[in-house]
Amino acid sequence: SRRHVLAERPDGAPTSSTLRLEEVDVPEPKKDQMLIRNVYLSLDPYMRGRMSDAESYADPVKIGEVMVGGTVSRVVTSKLDGFEEGDWVTAQGGWQDYALSDGEGVINMGKDPEKPSWALGVLGMPGLTAWAGLTQIGQPKSGETLVVAGASGPVGSTVGQVAKILGLRAVGVAGGPKKCQHVVENLGFDACVDYKAKGFADALGKEVPDGIDIYYENVGGQVFDAVLSHLNTGARIPLCGLISQYNATSLPEGPDRMGMLKGIMLKKRITMRGFIVFDDFGHLYPEFSEQMKGWVQEGKIHYREEVIDGLENAPEAFIGLLEGEAFGKRVIRIED
Ligand code: NDP
Repeated sequence: SRRHVLAERPDGAPTSSTLRLEEVDVPEPKKDQMLIRNVYLSLDPYMRGRMSDAESYADPVKIGEVMVGGTVSRVVTSKLDGFEEGDWVTAQGGWQDYALSDGEGVINMGKDPEKPSWALGVLGMPGLTAWAGLTQIGQPKSGETLVVAGASGPVGSTVGQVAKILGLRAVGVAGGPKKCQHVVENLGFDACVDYKAKGFADALGKEVPDGIDIYYENVGGQVFDAVLSHLNTGARIPLCGLISQYNATSLPEGPDRMGMLKGIMLKKRITMRGFIVFDDFGHLYPEFSEQMKGWVQEGKIHYREEVIDGLENAPEAFIGLLEGEAFGKRVIRIED
């Protein structure tokens, strides 16, 4: 059984020596445990945080420990009530072939789920993040304007599509013309602006003639800077992620603009609220799940997935994810 362990803490972007691939025996489940075979491994931006020992909402992975990660897996042997051989489950199986589980946090998807890997995306953690951040903090109202970056990614693509269902104008921000085209043509956003193109801030301004009522924050950096001057009075900012700074080793150069930011927030009575999906909104999972499954079945929500074969390719695929290489939700297929 292969597994990726954390070999060293990255300084800046993770590299090929951040993780180490090891070979170990397949573990034996004890009473009240089961052995699962990981089939799909989810790659998510939060994993960069777990590689670091900076203070955060969750403990870092220790050096020499298996890298954490959500998986879609199959039960090999079970000594646990509620799970039997052949069941598909979503679990925290980690970056490895096999894992032991005591069932905590595991969802049983039965013997024959449709599109099992989607449980790592639109029907799972990223989907809940999008849906809950938008509805609970964004407080969307029909006719309002929403802006979201990372618009072709699992969270951003879902945020914009849910906003459209709720009657908002949805403007995406994404890197490059191909992603932008996809966001408008396949996902049905009203517009998408390429933040890597010259004149980005002006182009964004043109797409939000009535200002911005909700800015769903996934990235930070220059996108936030461009959004700031268009925020309407009473705007809401679900603070979900700041991917542009996950690999940063220091604060950006330039003048301290915190005072200006607070001034805008005060005068425009802006609400910005951070959240950690399962801690804050885990209790809404059943409601989310039912609604999102319905929308996906009705074809109201589209989902793009990028499947990369081979557990050995996970580190490179993850490094690329942080560099904007992913086009849709990136998952590793560990086994066919
Ligand atoms: P994504 O696939 O959207 O993340 C990767 C994408 O981010 C890239 O493809 C790239 O898209 C974009 N990106 C990378 N660097 C930059 C940059 N410097 N500036 C602007 N965009 C950049 O990931 P997810 O959909 O899984 O997650 C989206 C965000 O939500 C992340 O910040 C993540 O940490 C956060 N999150 C937060 C949770 C919570 O509980 N608070 C839970 C889950 C996710 P492009 O090429 O378009 O730039």
